[in-house]
Amino acid sequence: MIPRIISYVRYISRKSPLPTQRGAGHTNLVGGVKLSPEVTTLLIMAAKIQRDRDNGKVWRERNKEYKALKDKEYYDNNKERINEQNRNYHHLHKEEIKVQKKVYSDSRKDEKREYDIKYREENRDHLLEVQRLYREKNREAIRERQRTKKAEASEYRKAHKDRYSDHSKRRRAKILSNPVEEFASLEIYMRDGWICQFCKKRVDKKLKWPHPMSASLDHIIAVADGGPHTRANTQLAHLECNVRAKTGGVKQLRMFG
Ligand SMILES: [Zn+2]
Repeated sequence: MIPRIISYVRYISRKSPLPTQRGAGHTNLVGGVKLSPEVTTLLIMAAKIQRDRDNGKVWRERNKEYKALKDKEYYDNNKERINEQNRNYHHLHKEEIKVQKKVYSDSRKDEKREYDIKYREENRDHLLEVQRLYREKNREAIRERQRTKKAEASEYRKAHKDRYSDHSKRRRAKILSNPVEEFASLEIYMRDGWICQFCKKRVDKKLKWPHPMSASLDHIIAVADGGPHTRANTQLAHLECNVRAKTGGVKQLRMFG
């Protein structure tokens, strides 16, 4: 009842003068509404509360610095109790606060990002120092975390062995999943006239692997990249040229040149 009266008084007092208290049995007219003496009394009380509040606001506005000083003094004297209260409040309203924070930060995402960047730039040294102190203080805990992570990763690899086997197995699986034609390397070597398709020089048939100038079958689109094992995707290359293409990007040059 009281809060409703207070808000009613706030509303009315903006529009017309407040009710005045007369003797018992009198009625008051507020904003054209007839009020009983009891309600008039309540209204006057509420109006006084409101007036005091408004006065307080005006006073605080005028004495901002003094108020800040007093507030700080009060806080210093009651630090523990206030902090305890705040902690309790936050604990009790955890979810609400979380939602409020999220709504607020979502509504000013860009500003926040800019502010963060600026803050990090301006406080670089301080942040680095904080980081360093944290690492120093929690050295053991950090190490423990790293150990746990490593162990977890190793467990995961063990549990998914097929996914983490050696390179050749993955390559074989890839070849099997790509289109495959049945043909002998010799067929491709003969098709290319025993000319290395990279350097355009002759390949000696008699040289055997792993001689750098021996014949080798090159996949134009690498098998690892999903290239098929087909006649169209293979060519003759010196072993050395083939290896160099794989490691040095000669292939890309050739494709555009
Ligand atoms: Zn070559």
